[in-house]
Amino acid sequence: MPFIKKMIAYNHSWAAEVTRDKPDFFKTIARAQSPETLWIGCSDARVGPDKLGGLPMGSLFVHRNVANIFATNDLNSMAVLEYAIDVLKVPNIIVCGHYGCGGIHAALEHSGIQPVDLWLDQVRFVFNRHAKELKKLPKEGRANRLAELNVEAQVHNICRNTIVREAWKRGQDVCVTGLIFDIHDGHLKQLGIEFRSQEEWEACYGEAFSD
Ligand SMILES: [Zn+2]
Repeated sequence: MPFIKKMIAYNHSWAAEVTRDKPDFFKTIARAQSPETLWIGCSDARVGPDKLGGLPMGSLFVHRNVANIFATNDLNSMAVLEYAIDVLKVPNIIVCGHYGCGGIHAALEHSGIQPVDLWLDQVRFVFNRHAKELKKLPKEGRANRLAELNVEAQVHNICRNTIVREAWKRGQDVCVTGLIFDIHDGHLKQLGIEFRSQEEWEACYGEAFSD
């Protein structure tokens, strides 16, 4: 497979270059990981988080899936959050969505592809919650706004989760925030949602999202 051969050749020259610049780099990172951020993003090939943030290796603990969903009934999501908070003690959690998201478009159109279609029901719940606003928008604007609202919903799913609430209760620093990546110009932007404590979150949305 030419692609694999090309990738391995690139990898070897990259490793040699890094070692030339920083001879102890791999020895240091091999000891342990100590990321500052848990990144929850979309699986889309164009939105690799290290590249977007210009971050060095080891900065992010990453969880990606179609349409950047954090679902409490998804063992994978829950295991990642638990490990990030309880073991790695990351102080930041970022949920990052993006415009032009195929998952968001598929949620709006009912792709019919199983199990993706089932997975995207979680985005449809977000759509239903904001249907009045979204139905007024043209097609592309609707998908982009839904991508933003989906990020917001996932931020809230994280904030209302026991793992994060317990961390806040014991005084652990955890900041949960939402970003959107504009695939048309390469810019990341903040969505104005950021929570550092149970009180901050409840003051904004606790009632709307409580069980
Ligand atoms: Zn996407």
